[in-house]
Amino acid sequence: MTDCIFCKIINKEIPSYPVYEDEEVYAFLDMTQTTKGHTLLVPKKHVTDIFEYDAQLAETVFSRVPKIAKAMEKAFPEMAGLNVVNNNREVAYQSVFHSHVHLLPRYSKQDDFK
Ligand code: ADP
Repeated sequence: MTDCIFCKIINKEIPSYPVYEDEEVYAFLDMTQTTKGHTLLVPKKHVTDIFEYDAQLAETVFSRVPKIAKAMEKAFPEMAGLNVVNNNREVAYQSVFHSHVHLLPRYSKQDDFK
């Protein structure tokens, strides 16, 4: 999709900080860094939200989560936990309409994010 910011990131038309990449998905640092290492995992294929997934795409995207989580734990040994968040549609606070999964490292319960 030509005017999709995440498609442009996937196609390297705009810069991002890579975390993980394979043929089907790309993971990169969220520019907001809600917590240190905040990462977004996206399917390379443009889909708007979870309502457009079939079981195969769900397997493709969500099967990468443990792999990336373990890599994050290696990169940030002080990481104590992880939130995995997927917002779907505006009412659920989705603001970029290319489906993505947030991986939010947690360092303590005092992180200013709930
Ligand atoms: P929300 O803005 O409520 O978190 P989403 O779940 O749709 O809604 O998340 C979109 C995320 O995309 C935001 O965390 C935002 O910081 C991130 N983002 C937007 N543009 C870029 C970009 N160019 N590079 C990295 N992250 C981006």
